[in-house]
Amino acid sequence: MIGNKHGRKKILIGEKAGCCFGVNRALKIAAQTRKNHSENVYTLGPLIHNPRVIQKLAGEGITPIESLDQAAPGGILIIRSHGVGPQLVAAARDKGLKIVDATCPFVKQEQNLAMGLLNQGYEVVVVGEASHAEVIAVVDSLSGQALVIAPDDLTPLAERKLSPRVGVVCQTTQSQEGLNRVVNALLPLVKELKIYNTICSATTQRQNEVLALAKTAQVLLVIGGKNSANTRHLAEIGSSLVPTYHIEDKNEIKPEWFRNIDTIGITAGASTPQEQIEEVVNWLEENLQEELEWTKEIK
Ligand code: SF4
Repeated sequence: MIGNKHGRKKILIGEKAGCCFGVNRALKIAAQTRKNHSENVYTLGPLIHNPRVIQKLAGEGITPIESLDQAAPGGILIIRSHGVGPQLVAAARDKGLKIVDATCPFVKQEQNLAMGLLNQGYEVVVVGEASHAEVIAVVDSLSGQALVIAPDDLTPLAERKLSPRVGVVCQTTQSQEGLNRVVNALLPLVKELKIYNTICSATTQRQNEVLALAKTAQVLLVIGGKNSANTRHLAEIGSSLVPTYHIEDKNEIKPEWFRNIDTIGITAGASTPQEQIEEVVNWLEENLQEELEWTKEIK
């Protein structure tokens, strides 16, 4: 607790709210690259799933591109924390681009474990969203030799005969329940199942924390890009228990959300910088000041 004013409302801020190790690392690598090089700097897709940060980076000359054709030869391509497959790195080099690799080491480990499974003769299953960049990169790193299963759609398992030996890795931002669901569906279908639980602890910690916050607070604000899967997932967990609002910044806040509310919970996705969380807290402090009992509390 930082302040203690006489009043009624409390604000609880999740200790784990905001940028994870891999996103912070990618942002630092990007800033360092910009500082040390005068060439054009690109990222294939947004560096992180946070439109405000991407806009700021673009202003500094770090340009997101949708395909390598948009990059001028001689530029620098930053590989974002989700990683890419080796074919893409080779194509970028062929085009005359220099590579700066900001792949999160935990994602790299997931790719290496998947490759190890393939080399040991397992049919590889990746638990996750087929369209997510991290999953695409894992599948590409196996030259497409992997089956992607989303926890909320197990139909591909019924439609395909699997090898008797299956190895599993998991998109780092999936939930434990989702992984369990796929593993339980696989078990009766195979003779041998080897599972690497590659869910990142940053994900698990944030998901556990949002559950704890949602049990204590009567309304929850989840701050982060609407295009951020992990932020959306936090909002889904929160909204299963309390009214939850997924906002990108303070401009989306509506004062009526806090009427007849004692405790406001705040958390943020793994791609939300601390300053965006502080802006929201400052807005609440300014606009609810008459009613605030605690100006801040770290849960
Ligand atoms: S959530 Fe985990 S795996 Fe993903 S970028 Fe952050 S630290 Fe890396």
